[in-house]
Amino acid sequence: MAKATISALASLAILVALPVLAEEHRQLGPHVHGQGTLDIAVEGNKIEMELVAPGMDIVGFEHVATNDAQKAAVENAKAKLADVLNVFKLPAAANCKTETANVESRKETHQPGEKDDDDKPGEPEHSEFHATYTITCESPENVTGMETAYFTDFSGGQLLNVNVTTSKGQTQAQMTREKPTLDLTGVM
Ligand SMILES: [Zn+2]
Repeated sequence: MAKATISALASLAILVALPVLAEEHRQLGPHVHGQGTLDIAVEGNKIEMELVAPGMDIVGFEHVATNDAQKAAVENAKAKLADVLNVFKLPAAANCKTETANVESRKETHQPGEKDDDDKPGEPEHSEFHATYTITCESPENVTGMETAYFTDFSGGQLLNVNVTTSKGQTQAQMTREKPTLDLTGVM
């Protein structure tokens, strides 16, 4: 019994501490409203990409879609994101095509021990869009850059932190609403 009480007290302490942790996480962690991440991995003629973006950036809300307009907004966003080569345009000379595209909307991973049924009404929720893509290019050497329609498609997006991994190594870059392009000269 004593053990159970201590455990309950520990849980209480964690719950009390959580709002502070959540706030820090929002400022320092990967999920900052306005900012998404795009990981690009190139191997031979195959390009794998992974996009993680706050729901706020993509549809303007992060709670579960409850009415028809919100549900339609989520489905519309998923369809846009699935059309990857229209969101992230590669040079025509590279002759790229989409092999796979998977898009889902999910709640941001919670801290261990935090349960959904502990959520209090009115507390801010976070959710993200997560997309993974496989693209093949006939002439990957012609992938010298990328231009994105992400910021015109999704009005909440301000910034994408981009990580590019190739056989030559890793590079980091950013695409922004002001500069929606990525220079990949010499990277492939
Ligand atoms: Zn959020």
